[in-house]
Formats: sequence, C-alpha cells, structure tokens
Amino acid sequence: MIKNNRLTAEEYEKNFSDIHPPFDNETAAIVEANRCLFCYDAPCIKGCPTSIDIPKFIKQITTQNVKGSAHTIFVSNIFGAGCSKVCPVEKLCEGNCVYNLLEEKPIEIARLQRYASEMAMANNWQMFERKPDNGKKVAIVGAGPAGLSCAHVLSREGVEVTIFEKEEKAGGLMTYGIAAYKVTPEFCANEVNYITGIGGIHIEYEKSLGKDFTVAELQTQYDAVFLGMGVGLARQLDIPGEDLEGVEDAITFIYNLRSKELPAIAVGDRVAVIGMGMTAIDAATQAKRLGANEVTMLYRRTQSEMPCTQHEMDIALLDGCEIIWLAAPKEIKGVDGKVTTLVCSKMKLGDADASGRRSPVDTGETFTLAVDMVIKAAGQMPFFDIVEQNNLQHKNGKINIDATGGTNLAGVYAGGDAVNGGKEVVNAVQAGKDAAASILQYMGLV
Ligand code: SF4
Repeated sequence: MIKNNRLTAEEYEKNFSDIHPPFDNETAAIVEANRCLFCYDAPCIKGCPTSIDIPKFIKQITTQNVKGSAHTIFVSNIFGAGCSKVCPVEKLCEGNCVYNLLEEKPIEIARLQRYASEMAMANNWQMFERKPDNGKKVAIVGAGPAGLSCAHVLSREGVEVTIFEKEEKAGGLMTYGIAAYKVTPEFCANEVNYITGIGGIHIEYEKSLGKDFTVAELQTQYDAVFLGMGVGLARQLDIPGEDLEGVEDAITFIYNLRSKELPAIAVGDRVAVIGMGMTAIDAATQAKRLGANEVTMLYRRTQSEMPCTQHEMDIALLDGCEIIWLAAPKEIKGVDGKVTTLVCSKMKLGDADASGRRSPVDTGETFTLAVDMVIKAAGQMPFFDIVEQNNLQHKNGKINIDATGGTNLAGVYAGGDAVNGGKEVVNAVQAGKDAAASILQYMGLV
C-alpha cells in the first residue's frame, strides 16, 4: 500500500540526518589536513572540474587560516560548500589523490572543504567585493548552479544581473533534485543567500522561459543572456502500464521530498526503482528511509556499466536496497488502476554501443516482481520545445554552443545541463564561470 506518515518524528529525523558528518572540532580538521603531501602538480586539482587549488586550501587549514582557505575554495567554486556535500568525490578529487596509489585512504578533501566553506557561510565572511556598477545588464535563465555561478562572476565585475527562475526557490538541482540527507533545504537557502549576498543579483521567481518571456525579448532588454535552465521532464519508459497509480518518476519523487514535509511523502510497501544513476540511488535510498519495506533497483546492464559510483551503490546496499542486474522493465500490471506487478525482461550483454559500454540485449525470458510502487529514474529530457521555439540551434534539445559558450543567437550564451544533458553540479558551476568570462569579453569589460 502506498501511504505517507509511516515513521515517528524521531525516525524521520534520524533517517534524513546528514550522511557525511562534518569534523566536530578544529583539531580533527587540522590533523587530517596535515596528512596532505601538498603534491607538486597535484592530481586532485585535475580531478576537480572547477580546478580548486586543493593543496593550497588544505595548507591554509593547517595554519588555521580558515578564512583564506574558504577564499581559495570560493574563488574557483562559489558552490564550494554545496559541492563538498554532493560531489561524487570518489571519482573526482579524492579519487585522484596520490594516497590511492599508495593504497591508503585518500585525504578527506570534501570534508576539509566543507569545514572551511561552511565556517565562512556561518560567519557570513563575504570574500569578494563587487566592483562599481559599470552600466551593463545581463539576464540569466535559471537560478541553479550554472546560473548562480555565472551571476556571481558577473556581479563581481560590476554587472547588474537579473535571474529568471521558474520555481519559487533558487538553487536548481541542489534545492530540488538531490537526496535530502545530502543537503537540507535550510542549507540550500543559506548557500543561495550567501552567493547573492555580494549584491547586484536580482532573482525573479516563478518566471519561465517560453511562458512569461522569450529569448528574443531578453536580447532586446539586456546586454547579454545566459541560459542555464537545466533539463526538464523525466524520460518515459514507454511500456504498458506506465499510467497506473503508483508509477512515479524519480525527479518528481525527489522534488516532492525536497519541497514538502517528510511525513507528507507517500511511499509503497514494495518499491521498484528503474535505473542505476545517482538519481536512482537517491530515490531508492530515500524510499527506504521513508519506511518502504522492500526497495529493489533494476538495471539493464551489469555493475561494470552502472552510471553511479561504487560509493553511491554502497549507500543503497547499506540502506537495505536490493539490486537486480541485467533486468529491464517490460510491463507494469495493476488491479483497480493501481500497480501490483512489474514484469521484467532478463537481459544479457551484447556488443559495445555508442557510449562505449556493452549494450543490453533481451534474452526473451521474463520474471515478475510483486510491487505497489514503481519509480522511474531513466534520465531527464532537455527542454526541446522551448529551445526550438526560441530558434536556438540544438541537438535533440541540447543547446549547441561554440568554444566560448555562445549559441547561434547574438549575445546569448548557454551552459550546464541545458547543453550537456545532465552532469554533476560541479560541471554546471564551471560552465557558468566559463560563460561569464566569455560574456565579460563580449561586453568589452576585459
Ligand atoms: Fe594532498 Fe592528495 Fe592532493 Fe596530494 S593529491 S595534494 S596528498 S589531497
């Protein structure tokens, strides 16, 4: 049965408390920072899409210069605090730490980054001074990591930025698309306030491109435009039974979880989650933490091809989720309009496909799972119609950009998920920075 309010207030709090506890005292942070070898040509920096000078900020922690450390982080990544909580660091900075080669535990870079950046936020240490207003105005679509990162760089240079955000809160994926035990709503709100605290950034909430304004209108009213609106609707499975009650997409499930009180979120007794990406993991673990009895994840390939990291998968396994490899949904059956059964095809691996991974091939055999809820996490689709209607050149809805981040429209730049179809938060932050640099050049400010 799908129902809400399955747990006590204490259980909700325990299940959704911070998964990566911070250092609880200064000494612990300094001891860990002192393990760093401060490598020349540090490989950890190469593993960070925003190229944070990691040995430098760690060194600054060892000398108790936490303010300086936070500055080193934020100068490269204004979302440094949020990224320290949501980045898959095991495949980024920490995955590149030389300690891995020595078969020792890598430096806890994310935890150290969190230590310095959260202290800066808690004390509202504003690290950057905005240059005097230079009379230039830029419109940004989307107040997510790409948009806010772009806005911060532009504002630092004295540009006046207006961000149009379709939701009622800013933060994008951070606020609406990531598991609640990684980042809380309060943290996301604080981070947005900290970023916009520099001044010169105005956010117009509940304003959607395609509904309330067009790119052409922004072009006439602003000196330049940045499109960082991310991706949109969840990809459908295109199988019979997808419209039954109890079938939900992971994006909506997580969105509701992030925007409502936890006891209000309904979950089934037996839940199937389709997919093995980070969103699938976030949906599966949260379904379990909301009180589902059984959560089974299905993936059409094997563990070697899964998109999530081993660390993410381990979280799901530790939470008690089951995983069935080489299984694809074939049909969802129900009684009285409600889900009762998921019919799955048994798959095997065939030749490599365009992604370089071996493709799943149907063996013709099937099996069934008794479930009352199916959560689809098969990816998200770009805003095809909006992109098309605004005369942007694109590939299947993903906006085409040149080496500068420019689109086919004069003075219009784009970056983040709207261009790449969906990557990590940290990639979007870098895309926003890159576009801001190009926009400053376009407006003759550098
Ligand atoms: Fe420190 Fe590891 Fe980076 Fe070397 S690779 S500088 S040890 S964090």
